[in-house]
Amino acid sequence: MKFICDEMLGSLAKWLRILGYDTKYVKNVSDEKIIEIAEKEGRIVLTRDKLLARKSKGIYINERDVEEQLKKVIESLNLDIEEEKILTRCTICNIKVTKIDKDKVKGKVPEYVWNNNEDFWICPSCKRIYWIGSHWNKMEEVIQKLKK
Ligand SMILES: [Zn+2]
Repeated sequence: MKFICDEMLGSLAKWLRILGYDTKYVKNVSDEKIIEIAEKEGRIVLTRDKLLARKSKGIYINERDVEEQLKKVIESLNLDIEEEKILTRCTICNIKVTKIDKDKVKGKVPEYVWNNNEDFWICPSCKRIYWIGSHWNKMEEVIQKLKK
């Protein structure tokens, strides 16, 4: 399942990436172009624009809160949240992150992070380093809520 989010849904796109879904986020792109990309790449359109949702047979997101938006997508498509896919994708570049040795990230992450984590991942494109850190509790809370 792959998605394309319109420019009003940046946070939703980020969250879908956290959950491991290939999600394109576009800005300043016409409705026609969004539909074209969606068809070409087999993506489901997520949009705050009712008309675009209808034209693209996508999902109309009228919720403002990102947790509610996510819930809408998950419920509309009956998505499963797969534990092993969470945090496998760069939230900025939408590509898969790869595991990196702890030794190699020394000095590149805050010292307390390095001291308190064993597992690190890196985005091959933007080189952003990921770990299951303090944001994780909040994320996990949201994910648990979504699973119910
Ligand atoms: Zn990246």
